[in-house]
Amino acid sequence: MDASATLVGDIPVRTRYEHFIGGQHQAPSGGQYIEVENPSTGGRLTECARGNASDISKAVASAQQGYRAWRALKPLQRGRIMLRISHLLLDNLDSLAYLESLDTGKPLWVARADVETCARYFEYFGGAADKILGEVVPTTDTHITYSIREPYGVTGHIIPWNGPITQAGRGAAPALCAGNSVVLKPAEETSITTLELARLCIEAGMPAGVVNVVTGYGAEAGKALVDNMGVRRISFTGSVETGREVLHGVAERIIPVTVELGGKSPFIIFPDADLERAATLARKAFVFNTGQICSAGTRLLVHRSVQEKFAALLIDELKQVTIGAGTDNSAIGPVVSARQLERVCGYLDIGRQEGARLIYGGNKPSALLGTGGHFIEPALFVDVTNQMRIAREEIFGPVGVLIPFDDEEQAVAMANDNDFGLAAAVWTSDVGRAHRVAGLLEAGQVYVNDYQPVGVEAPFGGYKNSGFGREKGLAAIHDYTQLKTVIVYQGEGNPSH
Ligand code: NAD
Repeated sequence: MDASATLVGDIPVRTRYEHFIGGQHQAPSGGQYIEVENPSTGGRLTECARGNASDISKAVASAQQGYRAWRALKPLQRGRIMLRISHLLLDNLDSLAYLESLDTGKPLWVARADVETCARYFEYFGGAADKILGEVVPTTDTHITYSIREPYGVTGHIIPWNGPITQAGRGAAPALCAGNSVVLKPAEETSITTLELARLCIEAGMPAGVVNVVTGYGAEAGKALVDNMGVRRISFTGSVETGREVLHGVAERIIPVTVELGGKSPFIIFPDADLERAATLARKAFVFNTGQICSAGTRLLVHRSVQEKFAALLIDELKQVTIGAGTDNSAIGPVVSARQLERVCGYLDIGRQEGARLIYGGNKPSALLGTGGHFIEPALFVDVTNQMRIAREEIFGPVGVLIPFDDEEQAVAMANDNDFGLAAAVWTSDVGRAHRVAGLLEAGQVYVNDYQPVGVEAPFGGYKNSGFGREKGLAAIHDYTQLKTVIVYQGEGNPSH
């Protein structure tokens, strides 16, 4: 495929992508590249450098130099550079969204929203760069005690494939705002926009070495990043299995980590809810981005008295979901890879074997069968129990399961009876119940009569196996700073005072 022939905007699709280290593209030290596919066609899109421990060492050394240059700037100056990055992202919105759509398969409208969100991260955290405050702590009359928040130095960020440019911005922007320099390791399937982001950082006037990107496989470049002695903090977003490996790695080194893992988020509908709106938002909750969202609302817990009506409304919603190549800008695109499609189809089989009834979708769309893209229709199961694997495990595809409940206590118990705890939604017109249930749910974010209405400003992260640490919002800055307390003896003073 000659991707550059369909170029939109100013950024070409390169035939080969190198690492970005010290403000420059750099070939991999092992000389090897990973073939990158276009998920909408199954054809070759480009290739990316296959990074190893030696590339990571170079990137970390570069980030250590970058850290000194970045720290030498005033917070105000760092913030202004970050604001320029935000503007550059928006200036290049069309071409970045196009690249993201080609690389991930997500529709252009989603890719555009993702680039805008990345720009928003740089705007939000750029504005906060000169507002990272310490505290004065009352102690004794003879001492003045204060705390200050200091950066760690070099932070390492391991990024998944479902929202590459947003996840890169979500981790890098708060780290940079706090004065750290970063090494980013995007997922091997989707590295392009993270590399372009790093290039734009230089264009915005950021010193070389502050933002570095090493592409490659997790077991090679990702693991080497966790193990590198120069990295002082890790942020990992990905699966529970890999998260566990990363946690073993950081335990050896005794460095802090944020882990943003998976979810199986409940979407609870009480009989007094606005069912039409709930059905529309339920579609968004588990179908958006072809279900490849960690906080997807995939467990639809519905009061038994309204389950049939709700299922009918939801099916009407699902019928409106158009499917097509990312750049065709349908409602949803393909899943990211053949492996991911196999996983989703595997869970559809598991659901049938468990005795659940598939009442909508789950097929490969007939019109797209010859395309080679990894397409799948949204699917809805009923006759599901909360113990089935399709109700307990993260599928990471557009599959919803509908489980009835009889009262509030049972709804809360079922919602919490899961290893994950990333997000949850409550649908009711009873304000008391809304707050009560929100308080009882074991989840890092709870929505009432909505689903994921806000992004950048609201702290986000997991309870239980969904991980720990917070990204987004001012809470993220705390995670990228370490607290130092200074205690100053100021003399005995005049005893009469
Ligand atoms: P994954 O765990 O396979 O990979 C994530 C990243 O980790 C990739 O960059 C990969 O190369 C790297 N990696 C793999 N093995 C590694 C190792 N041994 N050491 C260091 N790095 C390694 O996950 P995935 O399949 O790419 O992404 C899907 C998962 O991510 C889902 O479970 C999803 O819920 C989760 N996710 C969570 C959030 C969140 O914010 N909580 C956001 C997006 C995705």
